[in-house]
Amino acid sequence: MNIFLYIIIFIMGTVFGSFYTLAVYRIPKKIDITHTHSFCPNCNHKLGFWELIPVWSYIFLGGKCKNCGKKIRPRYLIIEVMSGFTFVLFALATKVSVETLEPSLLIGFLFMVLYITAIFIIAGIDLERREIEKSVLYYALGILVLYIIYLCIVDKTNICRYVMYLAITLILLIIDTIRLKKTAKSCYLMSLLILLMFMAVFTGEIVTYLTIIMTLLIIAFYVLAKKIKQSRNKVKRDDKEIASNLNFGFYLGVSNIIITIFALFIANY
Ligand SMILES: [Zn+2]
Repeated sequence: MNIFLYIIIFIMGTVFGSFYTLAVYRIPKKIDITHTHSFCPNCNHKLGFWELIPVWSYIFLGGKCKNCGKKIRPRYLIIEVMSGFTFVLFALATKVSVETLEPSLLIGFLFMVLYITAIFIIAGIDLERREIEKSVLYYALGILVLYIIYLCIVDKTNICRYVMYLAITLILLIIDTIRLKKTAKSCYLMSLLILLMFMAVFTGEIVTYLTIIMTLLIIAFYVLAKKIKQSRNKVKRDDKEIASNLNFGFYLGVSNIIITIFALFIANY
């Protein structure tokens, strides 16, 4: 029975993954993410039912648009599959099974799904454009408030530290919104700090510290590899230029998801 449950969870993950690719493409372009029908960005051909099924449609269409034959980036398929596996790993790590299906476990899993959604979209947009979208941060703030209310009423957890993180997040968001009005550009560092606050609430302080360490290690390796490549090619590039191209939000998001899964496995097995 459990195998069916996990197949359903995997399919659910790919459907969400398909939504992530759509959101990463549309949110920065300010295209509606829920009401506009899915279309091919090349020829505007509206996708039919069969073309909307994640993973399957990509294989079925041979990675091309049915109408104009333009190649669909493999990234879409990769994100859908990765998202499916992420959902399965989270379910395994939290011991979701047919026997243990109870409301509290389901609600916990639902909050995790909402959280992963925010992280995937933030990381995806950051990878493409090196910016963290304000609207996604507002969405994350919404689920953060819901989560704290849930912990307070249903779980009867002491929510002091959560409220503290919420307060810091609100202050940072207000400062950044005021700044945005003046300079028309959101502060990247401020958005990263807000992202870390979300991580601290949803995945805990220890996981957040480990996330920061892993991110710094990845970046150190990346910069080192880049420097070696440059010295081989005898290209001189400004360090500042390398730093301003680093996708911190993306690395933080990926590190956080990996470490959270590991931490859940260690805690539950
Ligand atoms: Zn097309």
